[in-house]
Amino acid sequence: MSAAVAALRSGDLLILPTETVYGLAADAANAQAVAKIFEAKGRPRFNPLISHVEDAVAAERIAVFDDAARRLAEAFWPGPLTLVAPHRAGVSDLARAGLDSVAVRVPGHARARAVLAAFGGPVVAPSANRSGRPSPTTFADAMEETGAFAAASLDGGSCAVGVESTVVSVLGGKVSLLRPGSVTRAEIEAVVGPLTESLEGHRSPGRLTRHYAPRAPLRLNADTARDGEILLGFGPGVGEPRWSLSPAGDPREAAANLFRMLRQADREEPAGIAVAAVPSEGLGEAINDRLRRAAGFVG
Ligand code: AMP
Ligand code: MG
Repeated sequence: MSAAVAALRSGDLLILPTETVYGLAADAANAQAVAKIFEAKGRPRFNPLISHVEDAVAAERIAVFDDAARRLAEAFWPGPLTLVAPHRAGVSDLARAGLDSVAVRVPGHARARAVLAAFGGPVVAPSANRSGRPSPTTFADAMEETGAFAAASLDGGSCAVGVESTVVSVLGGKVSLLRPGSVTRAEIEAVVGPLTESLEGHRSPGRLTRHYAPRAPLRLNADTARDGEILLGFGPGVGEPRWSLSPAGDPREAAANLFRMLRQADREEPAGIAVAAVPSEGLGEAINDRLRRAAGFVG
């Protein structure tokens, strides 16, 4: 733990477990430290990073919250919801990709919160993969991707959620969904009412076309494996999958398994990876969003 905090203090990178995916973390206020993240990930600099803080009070030190933001924070923090709000102070320009807004979240993982509390300032922690690759959801996968760039690392076990946080913008008094995640659209609307439709990709610069992608080509909505393909199943009734995202058809289990199984399949260098259809309600919206991007279908 002290080595983790020391790494952040000295402007170095840290492999940090969260409940969503493993992060590659740095002091958000330190532009030189943040620059190391963009380099390690090969991440385009126009794609801003999420700042992680220990609680809602710390969030309001870096962001300006309106009533809707406070209600969402109250309802879902600590947890996998990120709020995009006007930047108040304390997060480097580079971490915000020059925007006057900031993305902030209070993670639910005990070790992540302990690090944040001990460090005492905002910490950026994008997924610990090289840009464009599937996010790591185990310590071993995180170390394989970017461990070489980190001065310290914490093993927090397998990530319980497995897909990245839901990103919601509260800018200009409007609440809109920038990225689906495990906090669902319906859960957000239950707190703040109907969401404003957003122009995807316009407001959230990080919504790149091919993202989360394995090396092998991905085929979606498959029910059998073609020659040389590895089939990932979902629910009963899919023809002989190698692995199943969830044999019982539970979207939570599928989200937690998604990136690990894509990586597992990819390691065998198959001709392709075929994935069974996952219903798009609830958490399925986030799973299908990741799958479509991993397949390169979203422009
Ligand atoms: P990642 O760190 O890869 O999980 O991605 C963070 C997500 O939050 C990306 O989709 C970013 O574009 C989005 N994001 C971060 N900061 C902002 C911001 N200030 N305005 C809009 N979207 C943001
Ligand atoms: Mg990522």
